Amino acid sequence: MSCHGPSITIVSEGALEELRTIMKDYARPLCVSDEVIKSEYGDLLESLTGSSCEWTMATSYSNSEPVGVQNIDIVIGFGGGTSLDVAKLIARKTGIDWISIPTAASHDGIASEVASVSHNGYRYSEKCKGPLAVIADTRIISKAPELLKLAGFGDIICKTSSLAEWKLAHEEHGEPFDEDVYAIVEEALNSVLESDDLETLIRAEIEAGRAMSIFGSSRPCSGTEHAISHAMDRSTSSLHGLQVAFATPLCLSFLDDAGYARHSTAAIQEFMREKGIPTTLAKMNTTKSTFLEDIDHAVKIMDKRDRYSVLKHLSIGRAELSSRIRELGY
Ligand SMILES: [Zn+2]
Repeated sequence: MSCHGPSITIVSEGALEELRTIMKDYARPLCVSDEVIKSEYGDLLESLTGSSCEWTMATSYSNSEPVGVQNIDIVIGFGGGTSLDVAKLIARKTGIDWISIPTAASHDGIASEVASVSHNGYRYSEKCKGPLAVIADTRIISKAPELLKLAGFGDIICKTSSLAEWKLAHEEHGEPFDEDVYAIVEEALNSVLESDDLETLIRAEIEAGRAMSIFGSSRPCSGTEHAISHAMDRSTSSLHGLQVAFATPLCLSFLDDAGYARHSTAAIQEFMREKGIPTTLAKMNTTKSTFLEDIDHAVKIMDKRDRYSVLKHLSIGRAELSSRIRELGY
């Protein structure tokens, strides 16, 4: 595996067939999945791996317990975010490689080395290792619920905020920065703003994951809008990509005030409305006071992670936040 992303990336209709070639080097795969995916595609996967697969259901995995199966030589993450995250964690625990086979394009973790782990109702990131290969079969991914695709768009368009804040944090606060990594994420972002093609979205997610691996942290792809999403996780259970997108216009408007926004807040809101990504408190099943508390908490998360927030930079208080939320039509 290259330290800067997967050595094999296949995004196409019928990509799953390629597993046959990759699996020639392995004899004992462990497949991490869920019941729905296993019943739908389990037989097909086993016919392609050419050997009997050990299966483990992602929801029954506990990070604090040892991996129950022995002698496996490759881990296959086959499913949505949770299955891929568990595959990453098992790969780290056992020291063997893993293959990412996403069945939805809902976030940029499909090729990243970071696993999102839930503990006491709280989500945090754990560094693992990136996948040996990413096999994104658009025939399978196109069958995923539409909302998952919208979340995927959300986790890319939020880069309008994360990139701008990263630059601000670098120039105003001395945070580490990398022009090449910035360019990779910017290109991924622009590709999705220009085309809503599924393959474009998947490639953008893979590129964002690669950028984080090169930089060695999620900072290029994760700013205050992500911290707000993590704070929202305390009381809601919405999809990650929808939450980060929801917080993006707010953060982007303040980044605009600070002179760092490269995209107009109105244009991003328009993009979200056109696609059907929730833009109002009601549609996100939250209230203004809860959202304000989440934002307060997000600033603390940013502080704790030594990341400079645009809200701190501009010393934004509650009254200002409240009127901005109203002005932006939340
Ligand atoms: Zn994200």
